[in-house]
Amino acid sequence: MEYLNGLNEPQRQAVLHTEGPLMIVAGAGSGKTKVLTTRIAHLMANGVDSFRILALTFTNKAAKEMRERIEHILGNSEARNLYIGTFHSVFARILHGEAHRLGYPNSFTIYDTDDAKSVVKTVINELNLDDKHYKPNTVYNRISAAKNALVGPADYKNDYYIQQEDMRSNRPLIAQIYDAYNKRCFKNGAMDFDDLLFNMYRLLKEFPEALIKYQSKFRYILIDEYQDTNPAQYEIIKLLAAQHENICVVGDDAQSIYSFRGATIQNILQFQKDYDDVSVIMLEQNYRSTQNILKVANEVIGNNKGQIPKALWTENTAGEKIKLVRTMTDNDEGKFVSDAIQEQKLRNHFLNKDFCILYRTNAQSRAFEESLRRMGIPYIIYGGISFYQRKEIKDYIAYLRVVVNPQDEEALKRIINYPVRGIGKTSIDRAVLYANEQNISMWQVLERAKEFGYKAGTLEAIENLVLMIRSTQSMMAKHNAYEIAFHIGKQTNFVKELFNDKSAEGVARYENIQELLNSIKEWIETPLNEEDGEVGDKSLGAYLQQITLLTDADQKDPNADVVRLMTVHAAKGLEFQCVFVAGLEETLFPSGLSINSREELEEERRLFYVAITRAKQRLWLTYANTRYRFGNLVQNEPSRFLEEIPEPFVDRTFAGGGPRNQTSGFGGSSAFDRMHGGFGAAAQAEKTYGPPPARKKETPSYLPAKPQAPKVVEHTPSENFVPSDTAN
Ligand code: ATP
Ligand code: MG
Repeated sequence: MEYLNGLNEPQRQAVLHTEGPLMIVAGAGSGKTKVLTTRIAHLMANGVDSFRILALTFTNKAAKEMRERIEHILGNSEARNLYIGTFHSVFARILHGEAHRLGYPNSFTIYDTDDAKSVVKTVINELNLDDKHYKPNTVYNRISAAKNALVGPADYKNDYYIQQEDMRSNRPLIAQIYDAYNKRCFKNGAMDFDDLLFNMYRLLKEFPEALIKYQSKFRYILIDEYQDTNPAQYEIIKLLAAQHENICVVGDDAQSIYSFRGATIQNILQFQKDYDDVSVIMLEQNYRSTQNILKVANEVIGNNKGQIPKALWTENTAGEKIKLVRTMTDNDEGKFVSDAIQEQKLRNHFLNKDFCILYRTNAQSRAFEESLRRMGIPYIIYGGISFYQRKEIKDYIAYLRVVVNPQDEEALKRIINYPVRGIGKTSIDRAVLYANEQNISMWQVLERAKEFGYKAGTLEAIENLVLMIRSTQSMMAKHNAYEIAFHIGKQTNFVKELFNDKSAEGVARYENIQELLNSIKEWIETPLNEEDGEVGDKSLGAYLQQITLLTDADQKDPNADVVRLMTVHAAKGLEFQCVFVAGLEETLFPSGLSINSREELEEERRLFYVAITRAKQRLWLTYANTRYRFGNLVQNEPSRFLEEIPEPFVDRTFAGGGPRNQTSGFGGSSAFDRMHGGFGAAAQAEKTYGPPPARKKETPSYLPAKPQAPKVVEHTPSENFVPSDTAN
């Protein structure tokens, strides 16, 4: 029971309370995730079969870390049998054994967002609608939102409010597209990400034997980040937990940041009504952050109405004050951050991996990338284009997908004439057309190509392709994913073609394919950690299933000594010694799209709260006077959230940089600066460090700012933030 040592009293209670519904509501850094992990270890240490524990996390990475942690606590590898992962990956695993009940092949393909949008576009075109008006992206988002609210095509069409909304946006036919899209995916033997939830729900709802099977299987259910479960996830959990009711959810209403995806904090409030005898445990001691950081976080979130009251305190030291840094431009902001990282590494012996740069939108990463690169500081960006989204990788994987599921029209279209084999666009369009007319799959058209009057040359090419796929399929029984992938590379001219392309891009693409093959090999060589049945094998199907659900965050080495850059959304649950929250400007953070109602603004504030509470030791909040957005130079007021930060906890600095435009108000002309006497602080900074170098009005934003000495900010000892007396 060594694992219980070091837990505080409410944490211990939460771990030891194993039977019956339990909800832990607690602020950031109070050990919610730690409690979940320890609880699982505790259950296993007390003889609970690991196959019977279901734990749902927000990212695959979190799941992996939990599994490792549990193995460490227990000193054995039993944790490999846990059903632990994201909702999507756990449900995909279950559906791979159950999809036949719903009429899908068990080897169904999972469509990522690109595939899904491509199908949406195909369907829009086939319905003779204008894809400039019915933008595939917009339509896909509507469909996705509907699925996450468990609204199927028929319900969508009959829902008065949804229909009103579509009428208002002048897109009354989305219901029709939705229906056609679903049918097309079904015909392709494919599910999109949202289908993994929707179909899991249908499985439990429509097939009582499946419901009973999984209800009795999962004796213990644990859910992290419960505040962000959406209606589909919520309903599924409710069904699964109904028999044993050993369900433990942990969450923080102040960190609910996905209401745009259909998650609402109602879940937390509803939990107590859903079960009798719910135990509620609050955790109030924060172990992550300094007092100053915590105080600022508490103050900020205190501006939201209708929160569950919490009093978060810490025994940690007061720490440094929060640095509030203004720069002239977004490039100066990038430069300031890189300088500060360099300086902290030298002065305080931090490593690269102790730093995280957070921003509201992915587009903001550019300025940081440039300056980090110039300074030679290694970094990785989360949320960029993921390895598996690269064209050559998608093309290669499309071959593998067709072998496993030839009904997958999206994959088939990618490879039918790549590398070029003489099946031209007209022939492909005809294949799709025939398939639609005859209500068969495109693959079936190819198999029966003779019947459809193709020219001799085209016919031969099609028959060769069919033959190649079939012969590869026949290997599947005896060969693992790597052997098949390797075989495909040899059979098609794919790898050879890339190899012959000696341009820089060609070489990079070739290397990527090598990397893909290596990663498959590595996957083959990692011991199985699944129970038999379901996807516990090293088949090609099992491989494809798991990679589609990998986010790029999962593919990056968590221990690499590099600075991390990501959006605030992606940072949920993580912690870093030093955090920069950048771009704190009106219309950026809070987002200009989210300032029209109190609800939206409060969500942005919760997002800001999440950002602040990632920091353990040091926190910088930065904003720029001007920045390029969507190709235009814009001038922003500082974020309203900065006004909510109590003055005694911050140090203000102007980190200079050259103005893009001398008339743009250099020297703190903004209302915010005037309000807080920031002009003085800025002026002082100028005095100390000299005025910023004047630059020509039209200096493009991508040019480097003139080198400047790193700023050294003086600190005064801070007031202590005394633990609240509610903590007893
Ligand atoms: P978030 O809301 O951001 O997800 P959380 O509530 O899940 O945070 P954890 O990530 O579990 O918090 O814990 C935050 C940090 O505090 C971790 O580094 C964890 O190891 C540490 N911690 C939690 N409880 C204790 C404890 N009793 N003693 C020492 N350290 C602890
Ligand atoms: Mg957590």
